[in-house]
Amino acid sequence: MADYDFDLFTIGAGSGGVRASRVASAYGAKVAVAEEYRVGGTCVIRGCVPKKMLVYGAHFAEDLEDAKQFGWNIEGKSFDWVRLRDAIQKDITRLNGLYTETLENHDVTIYNQRAEITGDHEVTLADGTVITAKYILIATGAQPHVPSFPGCELGITSNEAFHLDEVPEKILIAGGGYIANEFAGIFNEFGSKVCIMNRSDTLLRSYDASLRDRLLQISIMKGINFHFHSEFEKIEKLENGRLLVHMTNNDPVEVDQVMYATGRVPNSDGLGLENVGVDTGKRGEIVVDDYSQTNVDYIYAVGDVTNRVQLTPVAIREGQAFADTVFGKDGPKKVDHSCIPSAVFSHPPIAAVGLTEGEARNSLGSIKVYQSDFRPMKNVLAGRNERGLYKMVVDAANDKVVGIHMIGPESAEIMQAAAVAVKAGLTKADFDATTAIHPSMAEELVLLK
Ligand code: NDP
Repeated sequence: MADYDFDLFTIGAGSGGVRASRVASAYGAKVAVAEEYRVGGTCVIRGCVPKKMLVYGAHFAEDLEDAKQFGWNIEGKSFDWVRLRDAIQKDITRLNGLYTETLENHDVTIYNQRAEITGDHEVTLADGTVITAKYILIATGAQPHVPSFPGCELGITSNEAFHLDEVPEKILIAGGGYIANEFAGIFNEFGSKVCIMNRSDTLLRSYDASLRDRLLQISIMKGINFHFHSEFEKIEKLENGRLLVHMTNNDPVEVDQVMYATGRVPNSDGLGLENVGVDTGKRGEIVVDDYSQTNVDYIYAVGDVTNRVQLTPVAIREGQAFADTVFGKDGPKKVDHSCIPSAVFSHPPIAAVGLTEGEARNSLGSIKVYQSDFRPMKNVLAGRNERGLYKMVVDAANDKVVGIHMIGPESAEIMQAAAVAVKAGLTKADFDATTAIHPSMAEELVLLK
């Protein structure tokens, strides 16, 4: 058997790569990881984590307003973007340190540079160092897709949104998915005039239609504008420094920033995949089997670069399963990609698990749908005319709950526990048999009629 420098060489130290590397090392493998930017990856450095902190920061706008009805005097409130931005970046640096420390504590060698596959079992670092490995794991994630049209370089993506010098007075966000709706909520709460431009009139396509409609209605009520069935024609920079956005089916709009949130594409370019013949798909995703193995038997890939489910906890599970399979003692492990709960941290947030009403009707035929459309108690006293909506989809044949869908305060926090019940295959009768926690919003889940 050939001698290699490492048992495992991981390219990319994000959520999936870090988990796989440290677990493989704990199993006794000699592991190295290459990261060209900062250890932690998209989620920690420029994704879920700083985004959630912005969501928290943004929510104070409403909380402080509502506080008046709860007896608080809040005259003189003001918001300092730079203070929040810098506090978030400071914490990101702390987390980056913790992730680096985790790898070091597991004796994983870190190369802070780009790596490319240059031959069989061989990678070459940006500084020319050639390293051999028995297994190679690609965990390079994805990057924002930027549409191509005249002036497209004048816009930013979520990567840059965390580092802005100031909150834009007016921003156009392109796309109607997770990032568009989350950042629309964030900037709107910080006082920007926000408009979303989308190629169709469907937001958050994979979510239940009732929730999507409710989010649209609440977003409009909060002052967010929508331009539907629109695509970019061009962006011009005006003498006043602002941007004039020309689009199909709508008048041009003048804004301070344009942000693209039109999906994320796998980071598979420049990895040298062609040097060893690794198969990729239409969007550049690395094609893998249930065990995250590519068509080249010693090369595996996990996380967003495989474009299976672009969510951090899924990448972590895939990284863990890879390490268990290749270096563990208990045989091959695969990740169950079904029934994955998810949330959109919009204002208010959406959370869901399982089948939407439409999917359940198509796949099961006979279903029962239970719904609660309610005004949370806090909103009533605050005088905030914003209703929550919970929907439960049940298979009529066996009473099993096959989907739960929520929009309203704290829905992501509530959903995590509800998702356990759906994943476990519990029935509507099981929910009904559970005593409510009163008063709460979550109690709606066990009181659905
Ligand atoms: P999404 O896939 O959520 O949404 C992309 C949006 O852009 C859709 O409205 C889509 O329209 C539109 N779009 C796609 N391609 C084009 C194009 N070529 N031109 C114009 N419009 C286009 O992507 P995001 O960028 O918002 O987020 C990327 C991924 O990151 C998400 O899918 C999610 O997996 C993950 N993420 C998860 C979060 C969470 O868990 N809370 C938060 C942020 C991101 P259409 O519907 O017609 O395809």
